[in-house]
Amino acid sequence: LFTAVEMAPRDPILGLNEQFAADTNPNKVNLGVGVYFDDNGKLPLLQCVQAAEKAMMDKPTARGYLPIDGIAAYDAAVKGLVFGADSDVVKSGRVATVQAIGGTGGLKIGADFLKKISPNATVLISDPSWENHRALFTNAGFPVDTYPYFDQSANGGLGGINFDGMLAKLNAAAEGTIVLLHACCHNPTGYDITPAQWDQVIAAVKARNLTAFLDMAYQGFGYGIAEDGAVIAKFVAAGLNIFVSTSFSKSFSLYGERVGALSVVGSSKEETDRVLSQLKIAIRTNYSNPPTHGGAIVAAVLGNPELRALWEKELGEMRVRIKAMRQKLVDGLKAAGVSKDMSFITTQIGMFSYSGLSKDQMVRLRSEFGVYGTDTGRMCVAALNSKNIDYVCQAIAKVV
Ligand code: PMP
Repeated sequence: LFTAVEMAPRDPILGLNEQFAADTNPNKVNLGVGVYFDDNGKLPLLQCVQAAEKAMMDKPTARGYLPIDGIAAYDAAVKGLVFGADSDVVKSGRVATVQAIGGTGGLKIGADFLKKISPNATVLISDPSWENHRALFTNAGFPVDTYPYFDQSANGGLGGINFDGMLAKLNAAAEGTIVLLHACCHNPTGYDITPAQWDQVIAAVKARNLTAFLDMAYQGFGYGIAEDGAVIAKFVAAGLNIFVSTSFSKSFSLYGERVGALSVVGSSKEETDRVLSQLKIAIRTNYSNPPTHGGAIVAAVLGNPELRALWEKELGEMRVRIKAMRQKLVDGLKAAGVSKDMSFITTQIGMFSYSGLSKDQMVRLRSEFGVYGTDTGRMCVAALNSKNIDYVCQAIAKVV
């Protein structure tokens, strides 16, 4: 049965993690994986999460099956965060939200549903994009192509967005094409388009009758929860039927609990109800219904004013710390003798930075200094801290 089964390639990021774990360099720093670490290099367990869990443990409950679409209070809280609880679109019942197994699960459920209603569509993802986007939509049966996004030659070789190229590709796309967009904090580059450019993207989506699928994996890490959510409101205001995947992996530091969601905006309540019924079929045939614990934590935090305020404070601290690390990186590289202007790092947003370093330089960083980023030059600035920043700056200065 298995004689012809080929060995699949290792996941590039997880492979990097294994290499990092095996590295004996005492100064090693892992900037490979997209995880936020605090200033002590530790994965945070948020206080709001601990408080919600304590309350749950004080009143233990049995673990029956959840409804197929998850905890109702959770789905309502997601709608509030992504669209605004008092928004017309939510109040008029035009948003179908289902709890999903992480942001990945939200993308997968959306992809499966889209394959049913738009079986002949092509999917466009950004070049580059989070690696799993291509794999997820390919596995769901779609041809996957890219739209231009990052251009290393932009800004005099410092790198930036090729927005003209992106827009031209969208304007030339066949009707019904599915366009995967990073709602904020683009992974892997750290470059987001401006609100005015979003307006142009929305106009293209509308004119070409494209289907926008917004991946919101970092809400709150850009400029704030509402600020980062504003792009969704723009699509809604344009009267578009959109897909939004949500991940709480980073914003609640609940990576392993796999908490996410998919929201779909319909044109009427009646239409949205039909969509929801089909999303449930997609869930039922993938994993039947979602797990309880992570969703219950997020619902408890978002549903309690005190805990929600605490969450916003803790999320804000993460966001501010990342920004401070970006500035320290720029200053530290200069102090370490890097002559190239690296200040673009502070114009990037979210957890990642496309550093502009070559594959050779990234390999040297790893082998000679134990500093791990991806071969594409992506570094997770959310893993920098006051203890490792000088070492990382010295190491980069030696390879550039
Ligand atoms: N989309 C993007 C852009 C991501 O960076 C990630 C996480 N790395 C995900 C989706 C998936 O999120 P989750 O871990 O919650 O499945």
